[in-house]
Amino acid sequence: MKILFVTDKCHCLYRAQMTTNLQAILGERHDVVFFKATSKKYLERIKTENPDIIYLLIGGTQHNEIAEQYKGTNTVIVSDMAGNLDIQINGEPELVFPLLVEAIETGADLSTVPGITYEHKTKKAEKWDINQVVSNESFVTFSSRGCKGKCSFCSIRNYQGSLRLREIPVIVEDIIRFGKYDDFHGDFYFSDPSFDSNPKKRMKELLKTLIKEFCVYTYQANFRPDFHKMVDDEMIQLLFDSGLTRAFIGVESGNESDLQLYNKGTTVEDAQKTIDLFKNLDCAVDAGFIMFNPFSDFDRLRQNIAFLKKNHLATFETLTRQLSIAPAAPIEQITIEAGLLISGQSCYLFKDEKMLLLTQTIKLIEKGLHQNALAQYRDLGLKAVKRLKREILFRDSIEKYNKLIEYDQRLTEIVERESDRLCEWFLNLLDLMEQKRPYIEFFQMTNNYITTEHIKSVVKEYHAISKEMYGAYGGATFLKRI
Ligand code: SF4
Repeated sequence: MKILFVTDKCHCLYRAQMTTNLQAILGERHDVVFFKATSKKYLERIKTENPDIIYLLIGGTQHNEIAEQYKGTNTVIVSDMAGNLDIQINGEPELVFPLLVEAIETGADLSTVPGITYEHKTKKAEKWDINQVVSNESFVTFSSRGCKGKCSFCSIRNYQGSLRLREIPVIVEDIIRFGKYDDFHGDFYFSDPSFDSNPKKRMKELLKTLIKEFCVYTYQANFRPDFHKMVDDEMIQLLFDSGLTRAFIGVESGNESDLQLYNKGTTVEDAQKTIDLFKNLDCAVDAGFIMFNPFSDFDRLRQNIAFLKKNHLATFETLTRQLSIAPAAPIEQITIEAGLLISGQSCYLFKDEKMLLLTQTIKLIEKGLHQNALAQYRDLGLKAVKRLKREILFRDSIEKYNKLIEYDQRLTEIVERESDRLCEWFLNLLDLMEQKRPYIEFFQMTNNYITTEHIKSVVKEYHAISKEMYGAYGGATFLKRI
């Protein structure tokens, strides 16, 4: 029997980087093929070419969309989201998935697999032993499981339980093992839900170890918006010297009402301080951002846009992202009590009815764009240039580093220009909607801002600068990292 895993493009599946670690978790199984679903066309082709395989669809926000493609096939739908699925994962995937695959292979009763909901909730899975080395070609490591946060939309506690810290020598061993892959160029990723769940003293110890063991490596990590509170001068220096070049900040919102709804425990001001901190460290900053939730209104949206605009963090992703309700996350109950969600479903209503029209309009606009171009447009950012700058600084000369600053400025100019453009488009859309203008005007106005032609030309411009930069400083291999 052969099992084909199809996943959505969410890298944080089950909040454990499942999509990048699945093969490592399942071992060298001859019966498992794994790929990320990228487009409907691609899925269709795989399905036609492999009609007899069991498809195990694992997916986050896109699971419904992918599952639709597999109707009438031998498919088991597994997801961490609610609605339209066969199996819901409740435990840590590193333990649950191998048992699930084994049960499917042997035809065992799936309700004997711990840590899932299949017909009913099965018994709780054990906690995975995090103090073991994880080798993978995606160069993903982690220093903690669980999170100190208690956000109402987040299911991290359901999957990973309370905060556990991984032993530093084990993390070091992970990174040493990355070196055996030809593709490894000294850059890796901490997938901790929030790297700053490490207490301050331990984080410093970890950063000092990175500097000692891997003095020219670079990395990326995720942070909470209140990270600035645990930072002092020593920490700032350690973050820079240890090679942090990309920071993902779970900002979530630019207005206090949403932050309270999300039980984020942080403020807009916190997010601002942490963004400024990382920008001063010459890091690329990405924001986790939820533009729409069941309680969104025009005022909240306008505050969100103002925040994104101010920080040049508006992308097609940050501007349009809608809250996904994870099963058993506290916000599920809040939404049910407000009469906006039916228990067990993932699709909610909006308190402000205009939000439905707005989100549907955005989906139509999105569908009308060339999908590959849009994917590249969405990904434009400063991660690659920031990483290259630091690498040159660590390994090469200050002169070369200074010249790279010019490329950084040119790419930053594109990113900021597009952020402004997208904000303007979105604000116009809100204005037209509030003025109750005819529907056709939404699309006419959009054509002045986002068209396939426009996004293709921006992507081309960005890539031309990147190519020139890597040609001069980094070699072609770095192009893959954009
Ligand atoms: S800080 Fe992030 S990982 Fe932690 S609970 Fe909140 S959303 Fe989840």
